Amino acid sequence: MAIRIAGWQKLSLIDYPGKMAAVIFLAGCNMRCHYCHNYHILDTRANCLDFAMVLAELKKRTAWLDAVVVSGGEPTVSPTLLPILRQLRSLGLLIKLDTNGTRPEIVRTVVEAGLVDYVALDIKAPASKYRDIAGLPIDKVLMTAAYLRSQKRIPYLFRTTVSPRLTVGDLQNMGQTIIAGAPCWQIQQCRTVGAYSDAEIRQMAESLKKYALYIVVTGV
Ligand code: SF4
Repeated sequence: MAIRIAGWQKLSLIDYPGKMAAVIFLAGCNMRCHYCHNYHILDTRANCLDFAMVLAELKKRTAWLDAVVVSGGEPTVSPTLLPILRQLRSLGLLIKLDTNGTRPEIVRTVVEAGLVDYVALDIKAPASKYRDIAGLPIDKVLMTAAYLRSQKRIPYLFRTTVSPRLTVGDLQNMGQTIIAGAPCWQIQQCRTVGAYSDAEIRQMAESLKKYALYIVVTGV
């Protein structure tokens, strides 16, 4: 059966650190974040674009691209993730996986099979607020974070979208209990009603510098 995806973006300068990347989106997600901007692809029925066609388009562009980002939805819940990654590998581009971390065994599998070169893991809230913000508990996410810390094959970053339901105290709590010692923590502006101002996001990020080697602010 033909593999289908929800969509793709021909070029992004912000989704793979320092690289020119295309982004492909797989539909389906097991979380329900209150600020989700991809809600139209949370249902797998949104997978309606022929992946073979997208692969052929990517092949034409390999001279201008460094990388492909596989995003969602949540790619690790897709039964077609592995075949998609294998076919992308044949292009010779770097591959980054964006994940909410709820399927640690899939993240481990694709890293150890050499199918991805970078992982961005969403850390959405402190443990006490995970269900409120994302609709699921934090446990599996922590397992994914622990796995990424334990391996030496590929670089990774942690990423937090600053929901207005998070306080400065929550971010400090996350810094102390989850992020501490990480190579990179991406602090991302949240586009939703009641969001913090860009200046507030920058100020918060400043106060988080002690928790990761690099703090990167995006979306401001
Ligand atoms: S994990 Fe991502 S795709 Fe899934 S609901 Fe949350 S923001 Fe949306």
